[in-house]
Formats: sequence, C-alpha cells, structure tokens
Amino acid sequence: MGVSLRLIVVDVSVREGEQTPLIVLINPEILHTEGEVESEEGCLSLPGYITTVKRAEKVVVKGMDREGSFMEVEGEGLLSRALQHEIDHLNGRLLIDRISRLKREFFKKRFQKALSRV
Ligand SMILES: [Zn+2]
Repeated sequence: MGVSLRLIVVDVSVREGEQTPLIVLINPEILHTEGEVESEEGCLSLPGYITTVKRAEKVVVKGMDREGSFMEVEGEGLLSRALQHEIDHLNGRLLIDRISRLKREFFKKRFQKALSRV
C-alpha cells in the first residue's frame, strides 16, 4: 500500500549535547520565523559539500506527530537550521538553491569535475 506523506525526521541530539528527542513531523509547515543568521551547512544529498547558508535564526513549525496529534516545535540554533533544511527538501529545494549565483557556479564546476572522473 503506498501512502504519500510529507514527513521529516530531525535528530540534533549528537551536536547539541543535550537530551533532544527525535522529532518526527508530518506535513510540517513553518508558522513563524525570527531573525536571520548565516552558518555553515552540508547535506547528505551533496556529499562533501559545505557552504554558508543564510536562514532564519528561530522558527516555529507546526505539523502532526506519529499518533496524528497536531504539534508545534520551536527551534533555534541547530534545530532551527535542521527544520528549515528538511522542510526545504520537501519543497524540492537544496541548500544550493539558497546560495549566491557565483557560489552556485563554483559548485557546478566542482561537481562537474567530480562527475567526469566517475
Ligand atoms: Zn539535506
């Protein structure tokens, strides 16, 4: 049976060094953002590539948990960044869609070279 879901799983427990539970959100939607911050970011879809990305400093995201109850998650720091990154994926956006044209050109050149060696 195929079920089409917009779903994100975020685990920042390793980096944050505190007991942050695994966050599973179905149909996540950003309700509110605050501030702006630039930080280095990578993505499992782009192995070995790290770049600086500007994102909201804080976010409030609403969605549904695994039991079907509506919930809101407030995040700042790494959690805020991870939530925005994963929601971007659901909307078909990668971090390279959030960088300057110049950086994107460098990215393309670098990955074209890498691909030509395969
Ligand atoms: Zn990613």
